[in-house]
Amino acid sequence: PHRTYKPFYTLCSFPDTNRAASSTAQKPDSVEVLKVQGYRMNIEVRKNGEIKGDARVTLTPAVRYFRYLSFGLYNELRVDSVQTVAGDTLTFIQEKDQGSFGVVLPDSLPEQTLRICYTGKALRQTDGEYSLRNNLYWYPRLGYLIPATYDVTYRFPRSLKLVATGRLVEQKSEDRALVSRWVEETPSMGAAFTVGDFDTSSFRRDDRPLSIYSRRNRPKSMRRHIGGDVQNSLYIFEQLLGGLPYHQVRVAEIAGNVSFGFPGLLFLSSITFQQELEGVMEALRGHEASHQWWGNVVGWKTYRDQWLSEGLAEYCGALIAEFLLDGDRTFFQILRGWQNDLLEKGHIGVSVGLQRFGFSKSDLATSDGLRAGPIYLGRRLGEKHPVDYYLITYEKGAYVIHMLRTLLRDFTTGSDERFWQMLADFVHTYRGKKASTEDFKRIVEKHAAQNMDWFFDQWVYGIQVPTYLYSTQLAEESGKYWVDLTVRQEDVPPTFRMPVPVGIELQDGEHRTRLVEMTGAQKAFRLGPFTSRPQRIFFNDFAGVLARVKKE
Ligand SMILES: [Zn+2]
Repeated sequence: PHRTYKPFYTLCSFPDTNRAASSTAQKPDSVEVLKVQGYRMNIEVRKNGEIKGDARVTLTPAVRYFRYLSFGLYNELRVDSVQTVAGDTLTFIQEKDQGSFGVVLPDSLPEQTLRICYTGKALRQTDGEYSLRNNLYWYPRLGYLIPATYDVTYRFPRSLKLVATGRLVEQKSEDRALVSRWVEETPSMGAAFTVGDFDTSSFRRDDRPLSIYSRRNRPKSMRRHIGGDVQNSLYIFEQLLGGLPYHQVRVAEIAGNVSFGFPGLLFLSSITFQQELEGVMEALRGHEASHQWWGNVVGWKTYRDQWLSEGLAEYCGALIAEFLLDGDRTFFQILRGWQNDLLEKGHIGVSVGLQRFGFSKSDLATSDGLRAGPIYLGRRLGEKHPVDYYLITYEKGAYVIHMLRTLLRDFTTGSDERFWQMLADFVHTYRGKKASTEDFKRIVEKHAAQNMDWFFDQWVYGIQVPTYLYSTQLAEESGKYWVDLTVRQEDVPPTFRMPVPVGIELQDGEHRTRLVEMTGAQKAFRLGPFTSRPQRIFFNDFAGVLARVKKE
């Protein structure tokens, strides 16, 4: 039959360098071409790590003429058949070594359910330890973050335990296997599971139980410790960011050095079950716990906006160290680690934050660092040097969040109330939705009560980092004191502006902090009067700005 196809265009836009990037570059949101109602899956897990999957996906195309559907699927999983529920076989295309396959739809129906059967080695299996080889694409996945309900029945060897996202609704024995069904009725960004020869411990605080699944022979005290950190993190984030929709949270140990947060299920790397590095492990667990909000309660629109999820999670990890440990010593150590990674390119070691992904000093030294590009490039930052993606989206992203805290902080009282309100408002506004960088900017603008183009243009859409060279002089007149501060700004255009906190330690023991608005090549400030003699000056107090600082 004769068919008419709509033409399509690929459009590019490039910002005019004479104008601010955010006012010229077009940043379209991804087009939502379909809605996914839900997944109903039967997954048979074998001892060697292979799975046999039977997935039914119910979806509604949101545009007309929608005939070709592309699913993501880990390249070692092979599709055996694609059918309609009526049993009609559909044409599908799966190339070798491709992380996706395409299905030609029978007709533009308002809603349809596809049945996809597939097999392959979805789990890595070493010495009885299992972990998903690909946490996201172990089932035919439509889109990256399309909320859907999940109803998954797993069949697995009796000798293993299985833990998955969702609510365990039933478990029974069949022949030599166990069959368990896990249901997530709240539309969620994804589903995951793992199996293993686990030891478990359970905790209960308020109404939400927490279970820890570790590999065998880990001391119970370790599970208790991790359970405590995760429970505390969830509690703190609930106070700051609002309630969690999940009735139960499970934590499972997985092999390797990557951790992952799914709705109600945290995969924590074996690293965190083996050693207790004061501060670092709390931050890692806090990072993953906060992904219950970042990426699950609030999604992100495109890969360009994923820094919101990772930057906020990395910052939340540091906050856990700040709240649960030695005042703020560990917190500022973590910040210094980010500064060193970003500004010193491995000359002062490499932060544990990057080490946990397996990166070394020399990876950092040979990478492009800050010049890899702006935060807004997202995963493309890592195309040449993988470390740059983590460096920029996690660490610079987290630093951007810290700079927003600096801007919103009341340095007279030391209160961060406006910052917490901004974060809570962001979660509240985008609960169950996906946010873009511009959406986040609008929330920041509301709480900062100013246009924030300048900030986002500099730090999110730009790559420059200022160097401040400062000198101070003390002035005294009839028992009153002033600090005359001169600051030179380098490595950025003269229009680059940033409020910089300056701490002044007075003889009477008081510590005052003032924000000075730095811009231009050189600027002079007079701070005071103080009734007690200033003893020490802390330029860029609170580590408030990502900058190189030198005293002249
Ligand atoms: Zn993360």
